[in-house]
Amino acid sequence: MAMPGLFYSGSIEVVCGPMFSGKTEELIRRVKRAQIAKQKVQIFKPAIDNRYHDSDVVSHSSLTVEAVAVKSSMEILAKVFDSTRIVAIDEVQFFDADIVKLVSKLARRGCRVILAGLDQDYKGEPFGPMPHLLAVADQVDKVAAICTVCGANATKSYRKRPESNSDQVLVGESDVYEARCRHHFDYFDERQELPSFYADTTMTPEKNNSSQV
Ligand code: ADP
Ligand code: MG
Repeated sequence: MAMPGLFYSGSIEVVCGPMFSGKTEELIRRVKRAQIAKQKVQIFKPAIDNRYHDSDVVSHSSLTVEAVAVKSSMEILAKVFDSTRIVAIDEVQFFDADIVKLVSKLARRGCRVILAGLDQDYKGEPFGPMPHLLAVADQVDKVAAICTVCGANATKSYRKRPESNSDQVLVGESDVYEARCRHHFDYFDERQELPSFYADTTMTPEKNNSSQV
């Protein structure tokens, strides 16, 4: 937070993408650079994500940084020290809607806020507070993984055996998820009818009132 007489410009950065895309690696990279610059950093993650460690943030490539596991966004507010310059939050998609107010408040107070999270769930739908966070962010980086089927850039998190669990939140690893490109993720969507997608080629200007716009 800003010290008397010193002005810090706060900001919100979001790193988003599918599972295995390097979001946590990128968050850790930014945190470590700030630590080298001797800036006070605090790292948080939702208590729900204990895949590797109860509190530390750990990437799939085993990079690690010490963190505090919290149950709600308001718990973060209570735990941020006045002297903290940077607040980093991993797996931010799991937080409640109040996370948007919280990060905006921290940024207004002069903090650099670094967020990492899944932009889409296993159905390709926007995940929790992510759409709102992406909208209010000053900087957004969308990172891609590698499609496990074809090796192309992967922007989707594919849940293996979706019929066994349809909850939006199912914490898991490569046993449950794999990164997929749009082509190898969307195949089951192709059965869905999209009648309005096809242009009516019989439409004449007289039949179509909207032609004057
Ligand atoms: P995220 O936080 O986005 O889930 P991590 O930062 O934890 O991702 O891990 C990224 C690392 O995952 C990569 O550097 C690589 O070592 C590993 N990895 C495993 N599977 C894949 C994949 N399909 N595509 C890209 N990286 C993968
Ligand atoms: Mg991660």
